[in-house]
Amino acid sequence: MNPIDIDQVNQQISSCRLCPLFLERKLAVPGCGPASAEIMLIGEAPGKEEDLTGKPFVGRAGRLLDAALEQAGLERSKVFITSVIKCRPPQNRKPKKSEIDQCRRYLDSQIEIVHPKIICLMGNTAVQAVLGMQGIAQLRGRVLQNRYLVTFHPAAVLRNRNHMDDFVSDLKILNAGSQ
Ligand code: SF4
Repeated sequence: MNPIDIDQVNQQISSCRLCPLFLERKLAVPGCGPASAEIMLIGEAPGKEEDLTGKPFVGRAGRLLDAALEQAGLERSKVFITSVIKCRPPQNRKPKKSEIDQCRRYLDSQIEIVHPKIICLMGNTAVQAVLGMQGIAQLRGRVLQNRYLVTFHPAAVLRNRNHMDDFVSDLKILNAGSQ
């Protein structure tokens, strides 16, 4: 039995002051989804709309993610979605290493509690934080260590729609890997 459950982790995140990002956040964004999900999606950090609502991937990139999940035959309500850090960096800048290091305990707890069969790392920040690797161009579409699928961050697909087909195709691999 896990010492704490996902709601307790989410509560800890919501009141966390471990790094300076708590100073400017409106709401922390722990993540959402079933605690028994077979699939976990991990992005980089909350953006403006996520900061206002406390929910992950609800802005334009989130809507693109929803469309891609649907095209891949996945239901968003059945996946656990979170990010490497849980509070919005000012002006959506990249998270600092110190912030990622402080926040890492929460992601580790979420992975341990949800214990997903397959984890989708969306974008370089997630790949670097979880696997210590870089290079989406070389890594995307590959399942590493039998558990981690690497793909684009939805915001990158939003900036370059030419990536959408590859993004959907990666999510199909994710869907197959969760069976
Ligand atoms: S980003 Fe993470 S470590 Fe920093 S205040 Fe938010 S929850 Fe805490």
